[in-house]
Amino acid sequence: MSSKRIFTGNNVYLPGSDNVIPATVTVDKSTGKIVLVEPNVRRKRQDFTDVTADEDFIDAGDKVIIPGLVDAHVHLNEPGRTDWEGFWTGTRAAASGGITTVIDMPLNSIPPTTTVANLEEKRQAAKGQCWTDVGFWGGVIPGNQVHLRPLIDAGVKGFKCFLIESGVEEFPCVAEQDLVPAMETLKGTPTVLCFHAELDTSPAAPEATTPANPTHYQTFLTSRPPELEIAAIKLITSLHARYPSLRLHIVHLSASSALPLIEAAKSSGLPLTIETCFHYLSLSASQIPHGHPEFKCCPPIRSSTNQDALWEGLEKGLIDFVVSDHSPCVVELKKVEDGDIMNAWGGISTLGLGLSLLWTEGKKRDVKNLLKKAVQWLAVGTAKHAGLENVKGKLEVGFDGDLVIWDPEVEFTVTKESLNFKNKLTPYEGLTLKGKVQQTYLRGNLVYDAVEGFAEKPVGNFV
Ligand SMILES: [Zn+2]
Repeated sequence: MSSKRIFTGNNVYLPGSDNVIPATVTVDKSTGKIVLVEPNVRRKRQDFTDVTADEDFIDAGDKVIIPGLVDAHVHLNEPGRTDWEGFWTGTRAAASGGITTVIDMPLNSIPPTTTVANLEEKRQAAKGQCWTDVGFWGGVIPGNQVHLRPLIDAGVKGFKCFLIESGVEEFPCVAEQDLVPAMETLKGTPTVLCFHAELDTSPAAPEATTPANPTHYQTFLTSRPPELEIAAIKLITSLHARYPSLRLHIVHLSASSALPLIEAAKSSGLPLTIETCFHYLSLSASQIPHGHPEFKCCPPIRSSTNQDALWEGLEKGLIDFVVSDHSPCVVELKKVEDGDIMNAWGGISTLGLGLSLLWTEGKKRDVKNLLKKAVQWLAVGTAKHAGLENVKGKLEVGFDGDLVIWDPEVEFTVTKESLNFKNKLTPYEGLTLKGKVQQTYLRGNLVYDAVEGFAEKPVGNFV
């Protein structure tokens, strides 16, 4: 039996190119690593006398081969809220969308990932259930600074904190007085501290005479104005000036009006990175019907002008990459029956659709070199963010053999049945998207096939 698996095609995206080229990539099956990349070489089965099994010679033809994607912002919620999501369903959904690495957020599971013991409990729960590779973010909450360095040693990819209530009581938000000891502890380490950047500094608003309708999206949007994001980013950049060597990151930027602040911080040389999400790039407030909490997330989806400006920020490099922030819950908490947006759980379910969403919207906008940019935003950038820049996100010798065969032309309609995550509620149901993943390979192993479904068993590792 051959120890290698060959991937060849007319349209392969290799690092550094502006577009796809014919190429062949060889993966060593025993290590799962890419051992040979041949640009401008189109192989035939008969070139390999030692490859005997059909499954070890994969000819993608005119379909596109890209590196496996890395989603650096996912809530898998297990253990503790496994009815919301789970390692099994969440990573299957990810794999069906061409994601080969998922980095799990420290909150919404019980326990949260705020101590090494809790991290071990999560790893225990995840064992044998991961269809993609999985890494973990740690959490910074008030008073847990003694746990931060041990969490780094135990392998967390970095840390996440909230500047506004998180929505779950076991993961309280932090204020400046909590952040200073945490940043003091983290400075000098190669880690990254990620912020949910909304900060409410306004005095409590007087009770309105006629209460706003809780089923109207506008009511929710008004309750989370861009000023919250701006106030948070001001605090973050002022703290950053005191800890300029510590890498900081802003998760799910929604307010484009914060981009000038970000531009100033970045041009002063501070190691600050920014992510936005598929929903901010593909949806806008005016499209959101009344009574549909599936569209609720924090910070909120804003105007179409805001959406345009986020695309501009992304193209200019002010926004570094794009993630899902897949954050589901059970149907009851999403309040879909009564359409109560104000009291619904805030979080959008996306896993499996990200690449198609970005591709559909990017094509509409006629973004130049979209494939190159998509790989940068969904694989190279996110891999680097999670400290995986030498193993994930590129079809390069020494990297993991994570490959996706993808058809950029095919159109499909999102149906409940097509979703692989646990609670099948998403704002994208009914939308027709362009571009669909055909096969996903993790370290050389076929994980998902659009026709055949999933492989027999999961082969994901912890990264
Ligand atoms: Zn999140």
